Amino acid sequence: MSTTDSHAFHHAPMGACPFMPVFGPPQIMFDRGRGTVLWDSDGKRYLDFLAGIAVVSLGHSNDTVAEAVGDQAETLLHVSNFFANPVATEAAVKINGLLKDSTGHDGQVFFTNSGAESNECAIKLARKHGGRGRHTVVSALGSFHGRTLATLAATGQPTKHEPFAPMPEGFRHVAWGDLDAMRAAVDGSVAAVMIEPIQGEGGVHPATDEYLHGVREICDEVGALMIIDEIQTGFCRTGKWFGFEHSGVSPDVVTLAKAMGNGMPVGACWARADVAAAFEPGDHGSTYSGTAIACSAVNAVVDVMQEIDAASLAATQGERLTAALIRVPGVVGVRGRGLMLGVELADGLDARRAYADLLDAGLIVNAVNATTIRLLPPLTVTREEIDEAVAKIADALATQIHEAT
Ligand code: PLP
Repeated sequence: MSTTDSHAFHHAPMGACPFMPVFGPPQIMFDRGRGTVLWDSDGKRYLDFLAGIAVVSLGHSNDTVAEAVGDQAETLLHVSNFFANPVATEAAVKINGLLKDSTGHDGQVFFTNSGAESNECAIKLARKHGGRGRHTVVSALGSFHGRTLATLAATGQPTKHEPFAPMPEGFRHVAWGDLDAMRAAVDGSVAAVMIEPIQGEGGVHPATDEYLHGVREICDEVGALMIIDEIQTGFCRTGKWFGFEHSGVSPDVVTLAKAMGNGMPVGACWARADVAAAFEPGDHGSTYSGTAIACSAVNAVVDVMQEIDAASLAATQGERLTAALIRVPGVVGVRGRGLMLGVELADGLDARRAYADLLDAGLIVNAVNATTIRLLPPLTVTREEIDEAVAKIADALATQIHEAT
């Protein structure tokens, strides 16, 4: 099936798209996946170097996750938060254990169903912790923190705000990487600064260690919380369990989702225990917070990632992929860390065209802007798959270079 003339819903009864038009018309229907490979409904094979946007980090249909979710479905799907369940309890202990190792502090967890909800929880917690008159959240231009109204307001992309104005009050944005701008913006009205260790949707722009330490210092000076959004970078994607670990900085609040469930919709907001204590019964909640079926996936993901040392895999395979990409004619730079990479194309080359050509050639990537291809393969990607993907990228860019000359 060609990506240009295909219609993903040609089997649908109405022959029309049944989804609201927020994503644009989907071009391909995928009905099966295994490891790094997806097959469309016509049986065509694709290498998935996007992994559901950093979600399927252990690969499609991971056996251990599938078994855990299947067993849990037959044991206990869900009880309300009036009661505990052993699966969520185990998952909360596991997540706190990981973050205690990374931050040096004990904390507590609130489970969510998505990244936006994890950030929404962090924003509410920061407001409650800050108290009346101290509710502003400062974030960076180019950031992405979600699509709910509050997390959209925190997202530093004014064009995304515009159709939904007015935005909720209490959000301020500063230039990315600029500590002077951060210092000027963080005053006594600020409850928290929210930062991604690597801006993902914004084009794969890593924060420097100095920047993260500077933000920590500024937060400490005024008593604001430092919230690190690990929704895309977390769970070994960058070569460590969490992206902030590369810098050695210790945040107060960490938000998670995506790879945490390897495809099961689950996220979390973790906070240092003294910060989490700002919440009281009734302050926050969600019917599905800590639902057993989603938490069974979390436990399996953490176990498998520890067993296979997914962080080291991401670091090693990321180096291999980066070294190969940098030699490809038409590539002028590779940004990012581990297996979260932004491939910058030479002047005159078009990342969106490359995306479409690569899809035709059976490689799934993402054009994160007009000149950058983003790669987020499963952390279990093999050397052979890396070599195959790089060859496809080289071919696609060679076609564009050839056409331009
Ligand atoms: N924060 C970051 C850094 C993200 O990359 C994303 C999603 O891409 C989100 C928040 C929102 O997560 P979700 O789409 O699960 O709500």
